Amino acid sequence: MIEIVWFKRDLRVTDHRPLSAAAASGRPVLPLYIVEPGLWAEPDLGHRHWAFIAESLVELRRNLSESGAPLVVRTGAVTDVLADINARYTVSAIWSHEETGGAWTFARDKVVAAWARGSGIRWTEFPQHGVIRPLRNRDGWARRWDRFMEEPVTPPPRRLVPVPDLDPGPIPTADELGLAEDGCAYRQPGGSRAAADTLDGFLRHRGETYQRAMSSPLTAEDACSRISPHLAWGTLSMREATQATWGRMASLRGLPREETGLWQGALRSFVGRLHWHCHFIQKLESEPEIEHRDLHPAYAGLREFDPERYTAWAEGRTGLPFVDACMRALSATGWLNFRMRAMLVSVSSYHLWNHWREPGLHLARQFTDFEPGIHWSQVQMQSGSTGINTARIYNPIKQGHDHDPDGTFVRRWVPELAAIPTPLIHEPWRLSPLERKDLALSYPEPVVDPVTAARRARERIWSVRRGDAYRAAADAIQDRHGSRKSGLSPTTSRRRRSPPDRRQASLDV
Ligand SMILES: Cc1cc2nc3c(=O)[nH]c(=O)nc-3n(C[C@H](O)[C@H](O)[C@H](O)COP(=O)(O)OP(=O)(O)OC[C@H]3O[C@@H](n4cnc5c(N)ncnc54)[C@H](O)[C@@H]3O)c2cc1C
Repeated sequence: MIEIVWFKRDLRVTDHRPLSAAAASGRPVLPLYIVEPGLWAEPDLGHRHWAFIAESLVELRRNLSESGAPLVVRTGAVTDVLADINARYTVSAIWSHEETGGAWTFARDKVVAAWARGSGIRWTEFPQHGVIRPLRNRDGWARRWDRFMEEPVTPPPRRLVPVPDLDPGPIPTADELGLAEDGCAYRQPGGSRAAADTLDGFLRHRGETYQRAMSSPLTAEDACSRISPHLAWGTLSMREATQATWGRMASLRGLPREETGLWQGALRSFVGRLHWHCHFIQKLESEPEIEHRDLHPAYAGLREFDPERYTAWAEGRTGLPFVDACMRALSATGWLNFRMRAMLVSVSSYHLWNHWREPGLHLARQFTDFEPGIHWSQVQMQSGSTGINTARIYNPIKQGHDHDPDGTFVRRWVPELAAIPTPLIHEPWRLSPLERKDLALSYPEPVVDPVTAARRARERIWSVRRGDAYRAAADAIQDRHGSRKSGLSPTTSRRRRSPPDRRQASLDV
């Protein structure tokens, strides 16, 4: 009889309760990663995700080998792989973390649960972070989050009893999975060692200016923690990240202000965002349909899908320099700061008036840190389809002037614009035909006039954001998903008995 530890988005040995529970059984342990071809054919995953995972698997195999049982990698449908192993060794239990994924993994988990039941095998799932399954309502959610993070970090198992005569199996290449190279030359490396270094570098050196530097893509690259791909693929646990941050905060307590500088505020703000991580994933856990369907029904069918505008946006050639620079930077690095992610979705949803689903899939493939719960909740929020958040229409020209005033970022990622004088770097269409000719400018005209397009979008959004039926639906969404105390400001639907508030569709942010 053997115990299987099924690794998914939890590619680490520290703070891994399924692994320590299996080790405690005293039976041989088979640590297993299953490469699922069906999952890798899904439109939200791509080359950069596999590259990050493959690096993490190499390190995980090494770490597990040190405890006595190397990671076994198999390719196929989960139930086929489990049935093969069961036929050979007889499985007494499967241990894993809960996964809040998209519709595909949700359906797969149901199949696995039915197979395990039918085979008389116990499958135990542990919570991975502050997401609660099942959750009746949001009351007390933040306090439960704190309690979960306060629990001790589980150390890696000292000794695992190995399963005899088992080939660990190769880790497939991206090519073998049919994943085309996607040009992410500056991707963050995978593995728990890289995760620990990244977190430590942030908490000790890079993070002091976090609050004021997070908004510009020029400074955010260094000033943000950059732990997101590690949280997404589980090379770092949320509890490890939170406790390390609390530890750093405690070490600053009582020190004179000259010594603590901006650190206290920076770390408080960072802990708030760690809450947000789980707060957003909880939305998908509670309502899996948000991956596909507009959260507020009033937005269903409101937007169109124009393939030409979509392609210009996805390829970074909208003719709006700051938008194109952000998209090209994302393509090459796999990461973008929050504000710029929000701006890309806003431009796609308002100025280009495209429905969020296809653009959301494109961004999912681009973000190395793709985390379905955060991603789809944020994509809907920034598209203004939740009904409970401010409809924020980012002005890409203003964003450019505010966060890249001398055009450094634009020049780095859109080299065609390198020679444009700084005052016009965010609006090259204002150059005269003669100036364009002199500069031999090979950059497109904007796909839409940004000012007119934003105004038109605001009117269209306003046309649905009124009336009692709209507010009643928004109230129901707020009750289900709204934050009680997660560091997020209260949503606006609580003002439901007041007249509609025009500030809730704000232009020019
Ligand atoms: C349209 C859109 C899509 C997004 N998709 C993802 C995604 O797929 N995966 C993902 O991890 N983040 C996503 N985010 C949230 C946020 O942009 C990233 O978490 C952040 O930029 C990651 O960089 P960091 O680790 O340096 O963040 P830091 O600012 O250092 O924050 C630390 C951690 O807190 C969490 N966090 C920070 N901001 C948010 C937020 N607004 N909402 C939820 N959690 C947050 C993340 O886990 C992050 O790693 C998305 C945001 C938008 C607007």
